[in-house]
Amino acid sequence: MAMERALKHAFTSFEIRKYLLELGATLVGFGDVSEGLAGELRHLPVAISLAIRHPSPGRNLIHTTRGPIYSNRYQQIDLKLEQLQKRLVSLLKSHGFKCLAIPPDSHRHDTRFVARLYPLFPHKTAATCAGLGWIGKNGLLVNETYGPRLSWATVLTNAPLEVSATPYVSGRCGKCRRCVETCPAGAIADREWVRDEGLVPHIDVEACRRQLEQNRQQVGEDICGLCILACPRGQANLQEARDLRWVLR
Ligand code: SF4
Ligand code: SF4
Repeated sequence: MAMERALKHAFTSFEIRKYLLELGATLVGFGDVSEGLAGELRHLPVAISLAIRHPSPGRNLIHTTRGPIYSNRYQQIDLKLEQLQKRLVSLLKSHGFKCLAIPPDSHRHDTRFVARLYPLFPHKTAATCAGLGWIGKNGLLVNETYGPRLSWATVLTNAPLEVSATPYVSGRCGKCRRCVETCPAGAIADREWVRDEGLVPHIDVEACRRQLEQNRQQVGEDICGLCILACPRGQANLQEARDLRWVLR
């Protein structure tokens, strides 16, 4: 509450980040997304990108006769992200600013009218513009500290907030090929992301989909997640990193 009172006077990116981190966000960043926004969203040129880290993946690892499968679906984290978005939206509105909350990806089935706008804006754009991560060869947002093991949400706004001076405009995967080599479907191209090329998928989506379908027949869920597990970025923050390296060897 003290922080909410402080925000009434000093409404800055620094204060908002502090507020959201105290409420449980792992990462908070601000990006200028004015370039390339769809016409419907051009009045909201600032993206506030939020992420919450995943717990250690051991509990979500399923061992099958054909190798491990990893479920990266965390309903509790998505609910928490939505709560953070609600607090943020109410704060922005109380200062008279417009905003639109883009929910976590698992909520894309939302049937409200506003949900039709969600596909116009990917979280990847917000997070890369906010300097929180790049798009890895595995097609996922990769953060230097947590790798791809984060869930993301975005709030777009017209509040005049200070934005990141160091957005990511290209990938930092370099010579790493861990996800390329681990993917059982051979769906990942060994190709670095470059923002100017647009959000061109470097993944063979059909091959990935076929793999998910095979897994669904085996374990009842269309999950795979090996390209998340394999990523060495942020593994220092995983207690079970050594075990995972053994699993994926
Ligand atoms: S989810 Fe599995 S099949 Fe799809 S790209 Fe990642 S490793 Fe490959
Ligand atoms: S495994 Fe390596 S190549 Fe793949 S996303 Fe992570 S850092 Fe990039």
